[in-house]
Amino acid sequence: MINISSIKTHMYCPMKLYIQNHVDLDENKNYQLAIEIKKLKIDILDLIQKNMRKIKKEMDLIEIESILSENIDSYIESSTNAIKSMDLNIEQKQINELMDNSYFNIKTTALKVKRTMTILDKNAFEITDMFFPNCMYSYLLKDPQLELIGMCDKIEIIDGKYYPVSIKSSNPPVKGVWDQDAIELVAHAILLEEEFDTEVFVGFVDYEKIGDRRPVVMDVNLRKGLFEVIREVKEITENKKLPNVKKYSKKCSKCEYEKICLKN
Ligand code: SF4
Repeated sequence: MINISSIKTHMYCPMKLYIQNHVDLDENKNYQLAIEIKKLKIDILDLIQKNMRKIKKEMDLIEIESILSENIDSYIESSTNAIKSMDLNIEQKQINELMDNSYFNIKTTALKVKRTMTILDKNAFEITDMFFPNCMYSYLLKDPQLELIGMCDKIEIIDGKYYPVSIKSSNPPVKGVWDQDAIELVAHAILLEEEFDTEVFVGFVDYEKIGDRRPVVMDVNLRKGLFEVIREVKEITENKKLPNVKKYSKKCSKCEYEKICLKN
């Protein structure tokens, strides 16, 4: 089975995938940590959603922000302590980023909720579905025939149609989405079609740093691109093929494997 996380890594750099599979022994812990951080982000969104139901249309922005923020900081603190007790090395930088993202999310949600309540003359309880549609979080999808497995961050269901959503903490491109984000999304879309016997025409990438949602159309070229990437991933993970990559690129200076990679 190929995990969609391997596809993501390959799209970042095929050599990174090779190192993770055939050299690095700590990778399992990094993967575990990434999953815990993702789960925490989803719990934060859930808390914001619950808090939102308490907001009334006569409240001002400061009151709205204060209600949306209830229990968030303490939850982040207790959850990151729990992650540390699992012997996973979460860095202060990652905790600060979680705090910053939730602060930004609360600010933008407060503004949108206030405006929507004023225009529609409704309390937040009545408009929650506009901000948080019916959805499933961290849904495990797999297809034995395709030998593909992956956890979709979020699946939104609107009028009986399914929309896969990836939640990204990375910087977004100026327009559209990064190639690796599009490939990850189409992989989830294909698994989702199989799981729910449906068709997926579009998915979304949520770049949480700037609170922007960008659509990705699941066209034929993107689907073909995924199968090409799967073939290359198999070559590396199963046949131990050493990929040919350009080293000393800009991304190498940000890569945790720089030392291992450039030494060899
Ligand atoms: S250091 Fe550069 S070439 Fe090596 S794995 Fe990282 S990104 Fe790839």
